[in-house]
Amino acid sequence: MISVEEALRLVEQHARPLAPRPVALEQAAELVLAEEVTSAVDSPPYDKSLMDGYAVVSSDRAEVREVLEEIGAGSVPRRPVTPGTATRLMTGAPLPEGADAVIAFEETQPIDDRTVRFLQTDPAPGQHMLAMGAALRIGQRVFEPGVVLRPIEIGILAEIGHAVVNVQPRPRVAVLPTGNELVAANEKPAAGQIRNSNGPMLAAAVARCGGEPIELPVARDDRHELRRLIRAGLEGDVVLLCGGVSAGKFDLVPDALAELGVDEVFHKVALRPGKPLWFGVKKFDDRQVLVFGLPGNPVSSFVCFELFARPAIAALAGRGFATTPVVVARLSHDFHYKGGRTSCLPARLSASEIKPRQPDESVGSGSGSALSLVEILPWHGSADLVTLAQANALVRLGTEPERLSAGARVDVMRV
Ligand code: AMP
Ligand code: MG
Repeated sequence: MISVEEALRLVEQHARPLAPRPVALEQAAELVLAEEVTSAVDSPPYDKSLMDGYAVVSSDRAEVREVLEEIGAGSVPRRPVTPGTATRLMTGAPLPEGADAVIAFEETQPIDDRTVRFLQTDPAPGQHMLAMGAALRIGQRVFEPGVVLRPIEIGILAEIGHAVVNVQPRPRVAVLPTGNELVAANEKPAAGQIRNSNGPMLAAAVARCGGEPIELPVARDDRHELRRLIRAGLEGDVVLLCGGVSAGKFDLVPDALAELGVDEVFHKVALRPGKPLWFGVKKFDDRQVLVFGLPGNPVSSFVCFELFARPAIAALAGRGFATTPVVVARLSHDFHYKGGRTSCLPARLSASEIKPRQPDESVGSGSGSALSLVEILPWHGSADLVTLAQANALVRLGTEPERLSAGARVDVMRV
């Protein structure tokens, strides 16, 4: 049985970014850019008004001027502005030839439809306008590969007409629950049956971390059915099996994977909960698929997903093998820890940790530096998802037994 650290190292070694692919801009949100983007346009493409007002020659000091025409956004001025004249225009409209400033309506008094009085006659050149190319120039480098496409980046790509973008695609993650006892959430379990909670839980976890979940039907504990559904899962980039990886008579998953040519990287990790975890890789000519056999118990499944599968999905998506950050907190109670395996125990970090900053509190002052309290939740074993729902963190303890007192510092991962 290998350590958690060694298992992480092995998963990281195999979790390589997927081949980049072009996608429509509408599909690209939150994905990682896989190309260098340069602007094919000047932005704005013309000198543009930033206010509703009058386009003028900035050096013109005349109080009363002739109004040449009125231009809305989307229209084009026809007459050049000269001293003694002005063009009425709306926000976003192009400035006419000759104009180099805008005077806001608030600084004017209309005399009649063709004449206007200016209260301001000394605008700085460039007032209330954005010059052509002020934001971006043709040929200017806009983004480097590796940038995460947030809404702002998506907006800029649209602005410059980059409607198809090369990205690291969203990893497709097949979720395959196994077990004769499982029925779907909308079915009534017969005697000896339970509902499949892991399938929907893992699919939601995949979606939350940027993967595209593909929920497969529950596989019975039957060689042929398992093989058929695993084969379907291998169409994706990652397969998350759950259940059937322990030492029971009906734990057929490792054999089924071997029969399909999935190479085992490790089976069993010194982790509590989560010891039966299986990990391997199926290599095809032009791609590879990461296969996780997660333990069936819901809490074990969740912990193994958090520790191993989530960083792997991030790595495939081009975000790097991002493990959950570990923070330090103080235990709110005594805890006798039996050691043996690395443990990740469902826990609740006190609200003080996530309290918003008060208006009178300066950044980085006082209370922020105090360690928050964490309570390891009384737990009814690894099938207890209901206790897990109280948890917002996992307390991570090492392999040595410890008698921890209230106030002791412990490592904590938020989940
Ligand atoms: P296994 O690893 O297949 O022996 O499963 C371990 C335990 O987890 C058993 O009590 C199963 O009933 C339970 N279990 C397995 N898969 C699921 C699932 N998809 N949803 C809920 N419980 C499950
Ligand atoms: Mg089972």
